[in-house]
Amino acid sequence: ENYRDVAMTWFWSRMFKRTPSLIYPDGGFQTITDALVRATTAQGVTIHLSTPVQTLRQVEGSWEVASAQGTQRFDRVIATVSPGLMAKLVPQLAGNYLASLKALKSMGAVVMTVSLTRKLTERSYWLNLNKQDYPMLSLVEHTNMVDARHYGGDHLIYMGDYLPSDHPYLSYDAEQLFELYEPVLKTFNPAYERSWVRQKWIFSTTYAQPVPPLHYAKSIPPLKTPLPGLYFASMSQVYPWDRGTNYAVEMGRRVAKELLGETVNGVAMARQAAVTR
Ligand SMILES: Cc1cc2nc3c(=O)[nH]c(=O)nc-3n(C[C@H](O)[C@H](O)[C@H](O)COP(=O)(O)OP(=O)(O)OC[C@H]3O[C@@H](n4cnc5c(N)ncnc54)[C@H](O)[C@@H]3O)c2cc1C
Repeated sequence: ENYRDVAMTWFWSRMFKRTPSLIYPDGGFQTITDALVRATTAQGVTIHLSTPVQTLRQVEGSWEVASAQGTQRFDRVIATVSPGLMAKLVPQLAGNYLASLKALKSMGAVVMTVSLTRKLTERSYWLNLNKQDYPMLSLVEHTNMVDARHYGGDHLIYMGDYLPSDHPYLSYDAEQLFELYEPVLKTFNPAYERSWVRQKWIFSTTYAQPVPPLHYAKSIPPLKTPLPGLYFASMSQVYPWDRGTNYAVEMGRRVAKELLGETVNGVAMARQAAVTR
């Protein structure tokens, strides 16, 4: 539904950067996350899982971060949430920066993974589907790329779709979505039976894919917000390339460099960080 608005620059770069080669890390992206957790916690980082930040407020030159666990004060904050959430989390953001956050468009996504006792398709890995005829955008048989022996012999398929952020499917549970998706499985293998299904998982998010219109480069908010000590780094600031984990890493390095280069009360943050460590 956004094809009329998307800039060709973005579309070109999406095609230009693609290669026919695919890689899949052993253990998936979890392997990378686990390595990151090991490396950062070894350097003294504390990670609070399942603790959504509720507000970010500047108080007496530092940042008060509120969550269900209470409030904590920090010298600097890098927020990596969606632009819409960023606008809500920081009541002190105003003016052009707030307006530019609110103007950024994006879509949500839902991905359902199903483990089967048998192969669904003989050799297909990724099938792009026409949404006029199918309830989802893609059907991927993961174990036609990564051997089923890595999954205890199960065959994994996943079905995904990008949807408007307020679409009801984004709040469906696995059973509801499977009712919608399952009927098309027989199209790909007429022998398919429900008894092949071992388990289902659903993953949904309201912020999955920025939608960059014409002249997008001019409307991307900078990493450094107008509020001292507050930085914002998100998928929506990746351009002209389409968002991807590699760009998230690149942006993470860039925002850290900006933050460390900042001078606070006459002391460079880089020196302060080194002293703290
Ligand atoms: C369906 C799909 C398939 C993809 N496939 C690939 C792929 O194959 N290869 C690839 O490189 N990229 C892929 N991507 C893109 C990749 O996932 C993103 O580019 C990357 O995750 C962006 O990283 P990020 O850190 O900016 O944001 P995110 O990974 O979205 O991280 C933001 C974090 O903020 C947390 N958060 C949200 N609200 C709060 C709050 N209130 N308080 C605290 N934390 C909060 C979230 O839980 C999340 O962990 C895919 C994306 C989608 C949607």
